[in-house]
Amino acid sequence: MKKKLLLHICCGPCSLYVWKKLQTDYELCGYFFNPNIQPFGEYEFRRLELAKIAERFAWPMVYAGYDLNDWFAAIRGFEREAERGARCPVCFRFRLERAFRHAREHGFDTVASTLSISPSKVTAQINGQGQALAEKYGVGFLAENFKKKDGFLISRREGEALGVRHQDYCGCVYSKVERLLYRRRSSR
Ligand code: SF4
Repeated sequence: MKKKLLLHICCGPCSLYVWKKLQTDYELCGYFFNPNIQPFGEYEFRRLELAKIAERFAWPMVYAGYDLNDWFAAIRGFEREAERGARCPVCFRFRLERAFRHAREHGFDTVASTLSISPSKVTAQINGQGQALAEKYGVGFLAENFKKKDGFLISRREGEALGVRHQDYCGCVYSKVERLLYRRRSSR
């Protein structure tokens, strides 16, 4: 019998490669918990893009709530950090912790996340938080680096073929501002 794995999914396009890679070894359920995505319109857009993919491939999914206030409380004091800096591990932990709680309450053996597929995220930050939570909750964590072997590129291509767009900033308002400033500097 396959082990039950709860896959934390950050967005639809990133899930395509990871789901296919894991589905032969695990019984999968997707878990969308990302109140780091702002504004709410963008959050809904990414959630609905994922829902389209999940429906098409008949993936079981859980969509957890949009706990925006709790997310801002969690990252308080780290607002001025750059993307990939000290705010991101706190954000990863906040999201993954909810997945671990769900996993323990619903009898999953393991948790994994699509987060490491992004070239702009530090894999060690994600896996460090996942491993600490695995100890805390007594549920396994699959420490992976899905961007290896062109994972991101493949996922992006598959997303485009299905007509789903990859977002152009990580998610939080700080990463959105950072991206806008970067674009403005590059266009000068
Ligand atoms: S840049 Fe991305 S990972 Fe870092 S805090 Fe913002 S949403 Fe979270």
